[in-house]
Amino acid sequence: MIRTAKPPKAALRAVHPEWPRADRPRETVCLLPGPVAIAPRVTAAFHEPLVYHRSEEFVPLFEGVRAKLSGLVGGKPVGMFIGSGTLANDAVAATLAADPARDNGLILTAGEFGDRLLRQANNWKLSPKVLTWNWGRAWQLDEVEAAMRVMPAGGWVWGAHHETSTGVLNDLPGLVRIARKYGHRVCVDCVSSLATVPVDLDGVYLATGASGKAIGSYAGVAFVFANPADLAHLETTRIPTYLDVAATVSTVGPRFTAPSPMIKALDVALDTLSTPERRAARYKQIAELGGYVRSRLRDAGYVPLAPDAVASPAIVTFAPPGEVSSAAFVSMCGAWGYQIAGQSGYLAERRLVQLAVMGHVTRADLEPLLDRLS
Ligand SMILES: *Cc1c(COP(=O)(O)O)cnc(C)c1O
Repeated sequence: MIRTAKPPKAALRAVHPEWPRADRPRETVCLLPGPVAIAPRVTAAFHEPLVYHRSEEFVPLFEGVRAKLSGLVGGKPVGMFIGSGTLANDAVAATLAADPARDNGLILTAGEFGDRLLRQANNWKLSPKVLTWNWGRAWQLDEVEAAMRVMPAGGWVWGAHHETSTGVLNDLPGLVRIARKYGHRVCVDCVSSLATVPVDLDGVYLATGASGKAIGSYAGVAFVFANPADLAHLETTRIPTYLDVAATVSTVGPRFTAPSPMIKALDVALDTLSTPERRAARYKQIAELGGYVRSRLRDAGYVPLAPDAVASPAIVTFAPPGEVSSAAFVSMCGAWGYQIAGQSGYLAERRLVQLAVMGHVTRADLEPLLDRLS
């Protein structure tokens, strides 16, 4: 449950004296980087009756969602899979594993999500070269260029655009420019950048996204963006049926069973991003909200892990004050009515926490928390 029940009526309070007074917040505000706070109209779409996935109603709905997703990234076609973002990244790894250049790869990592891509690549026996930077740093493109220069042309590079663990937004256009110069293909995890900042996938080979992050729907639909023409050379017999990106992108309607509630909710969530004007307004809103969170935290003495020049607007990662553990800070915010990240092992062991503004939240939702932290 992302938002809990509405404040109880006075009559209920008489029955339950422990209910908080109505002037105190009863709704929990979700500031996690997934699941995110979901708008009521998205929840309403999720609760519509089930629709058969081969029906005349469903196939156009499914294709409409794909068209909206493509519109979000400058037009690149997209395939949808039922699963979370990790599934989409596994589909990318499976695609690379079926490529003649499978052994000519480079992975960029400066945080938990880059590390996951590396683990996924290793599980697919890709044995890429690896460039690693400390948490809080961005891809260093001069080092990337030096590595790409010595790779035989036709290779691939893979990294996380927005490193969700640190709140660093990497320079995707810069990476695409360098890769093009040396004849390599760019694969990129856009799971947490999609719908927070403009993402142009022109010149990108494979990119991934997911429904449950900044798009603001329920988790469970994973996306891989790819041009079918770029996939024609693959040895697809090496790819597990469900992970076949070329087949998924080329098929009209779902290849396999798809749950209509998740697709309907995603369709409605995408409406806020369906025109250039709406997208611009949403990106501006996230930039303003994120800027507000960063500056209030900074004023209160917290130091964001990501330097301003490479900071994502959507997430601020920082250390709690003094010796306070991530878990204690998270539970304190919980008691104030805010769900924040810090429980994941990779944050807790570094004594980090995060405030994310990726979902349906407003400045008014954030203000009481920032007041308390000041
Ligand atoms: C959330 C996220 C994923 C996918 O994680 P799931 O738990 O499978 O949804 C992948 N990459 C990044 C950068 C993410 O933020």
